[in-house]
Amino acid sequence: MVNNTYTKIKEIREYARDNKVPIMNQEGIDFLTTFIIKHQIKNVLEIGTAIGYSAIMMSLCSPTLKVTTIERDEERYLEAIKNIKKLNLEDRITLIFNDALKTRVDGKYDLIFIDAAKAQNIKFFELFERNLNDGGFIITDNMYFHGLVKKSEKEIKSRNVRGIVRKIKDYIAFLKENDNYNTTIYDIGDGIAVSEKKTKGGA
Ligand code: SAH
Ligand code: MG
Repeated sequence: MVNNTYTKIKEIREYARDNKVPIMNQEGIDFLTTFIIKHQIKNVLEIGTAIGYSAIMMSLCSPTLKVTTIERDEERYLEAIKNIKKLNLEDRITLIFNDALKTRVDGKYDLIFIDAAKAQNIKFFELFERNLNDGGFIITDNMYFHGLVKKSEKEIKSRNVRGIVRKIKDYIAFLKENDNYNTTIYDIGDGIAVSEKKTKGGA
């Protein structure tokens, strides 16, 4: 990364820290960007922009990569616009301000990155898989939900949090049972699921 770019990225990370915006951690973002380069991903559909950090990091993987990203929170969406302008990535990142569950997107993508409301993962998956190319990937962040998915229910005090953890476990079962995809969950960052769509009529 060029000096100037690095400083701007650092500022975005600091804003996230100061304003408690749950952007991907360093280990997670390293995994995601390495994955994009390794698999020569050309375009990404992201659910959950927040302030544009992961969209920007993905875009910086290749000078031709395009990202479409959806965010429902206005304050974060506006901050994402600012950050994307700051890095001159307006031509390559398309922001959609809406609830993803009410959004229909055109076109097909090599990678769909799900990083929004954790209890809705099955819905996001089922809604947006129509936008995935054959042989493409769906990557889901926070499969451990800050480590809580590995704990027993008794250890989790909040009923609300227990509910989310249960939904993530349902999502894990959903992915494992889904014969159209091969899913691996990596013990990286906050737990990252990679679901590879099987190619039709393949060997
Ligand atoms: N991908 C970002 C972090 C996203 S945080 C990064 O790593 O930089 C999750 C975001 O998803 C939040 O900003 C939240 O407002 C948004 N979100 C949650 N549910 C959503 C929905 N149904 N539609 C659109 N955005 C949603
Ligand atoms: Mg996340």
